[in-house]
Amino acid sequence: MTKPMKYRDLARRLRSHGCTPKPGKGDHEKWYCPCGKHMAVITRTRDVSPGVVDDTRKKLTFLPEGWMK
Ligand SMILES: [Zn+2]
Repeated sequence: MTKPMKYRDLARRLRSHGCTPKPGKGDHEKWYCPCGKHMAVITRTRDVSPGVVDDTRKKLTFLPEGWMK
């Protein structure tokens, strides 16, 4: 089961894998992977919901297994 994550932790992990954020609409952020072909939208809230965490994992498929731990 996917658990919610703190935005800060998720952002830090994504950054450490070379991802970069670009502002989206409202509290949304578009996170691009280093190759620029993969993108996930993350809501910038204190806690990121399991659905968004799951979606991020599916979209950024280049991330190694267990990157969230
Ligand atoms: Zn990519």
